[in-house]
Amino acid sequence: MRIRRTSWTIWRVAWSLLRKADLVVVSWFIARPVFHAAVVTAYLMQKEHLSAAAALKSLRRISPGVHPNDGFMEQLAIFESMGNKIDRDSSSYKKFKVKFLGESFAKGEVMESSSYASDPGSATVKLPAPSNTIESGTERSTVYRCKKCRRVVARDENVIGHDVGGGESAFKWQKRGGKEGMYTQAPVCTSMFVEPMQWMTAVEEGVVEGKLQCVKCEARLGNFNWSGMQCSCGAWVTPAFQLHKSRMDAAYF
Ligand SMILES: [Zn+2]
Ligand SMILES: [Zn+2]
Repeated sequence: MRIRRTSWTIWRVAWSLLRKADLVVVSWFIARPVFHAAVVTAYLMQKEHLSAAAALKSLRRISPGVHPNDGFMEQLAIFESMGNKIDRDSSSYKKFKVKFLGESFAKGEVMESSSYASDPGSATVKLPAPSNTIESGTERSTVYRCKKCRRVVARDENVIGHDVGGGESAFKWQKRGGKEGMYTQAPVCTSMFVEPMQWMTAVEEGVVEGKLQCVKCEARLGNFNWSGMQCSCGAWVTPAFQLHKSRMDAAYF
């Protein structure tokens, strides 16, 4: 069976091509449908230091029919927020990537494990030495371990932030709780949401939802659901790869 490459892989190839792109490549892309127009726009943004709107305007001068759809415009806005470059550690990039993977999953595309973040607990990933002192100018980072067996399951960089409380959905959720005074309580997140990582074998099986278990001791650490889950604070996270804070120990470096 021939496995169709995910759009995410195509994006990655396109980015690396465009990094070295010349006019021949760009004109080849211009001849392609809407998807490639977005990539060319991103290229112009990077090369000419333009905003998404300005790059699109300039592209339309050569090719008036260009019109990336709303989804691509959103991606271009994220690209702009990263300073017109791909910063793989930025939270905008991670949010974009996870959302993109979610959309690909919904379309029934096959996920390659290379689309997932590398396993922070694998022997090849070096962890910083523990430190009790905060050196000036050094950013502290957090490592999360399985409470039961101490295996590393996530690092700060893997965490995908969400708007705590989540606005209207939080209101509805708290209302369902039905208790007086709940509205005034600050919402609390008992879990954190992460990007899919290569230790999450259940995710790689291609099912919509399931448990996330520690690869070493099989302790249950949380759940995942490509269609989304609600955090204890009320916010909806889609897709969701949730780790319960109570099942992990956080160590600061
Ligand atoms: Zn464990
Ligand atoms: Zn939350």
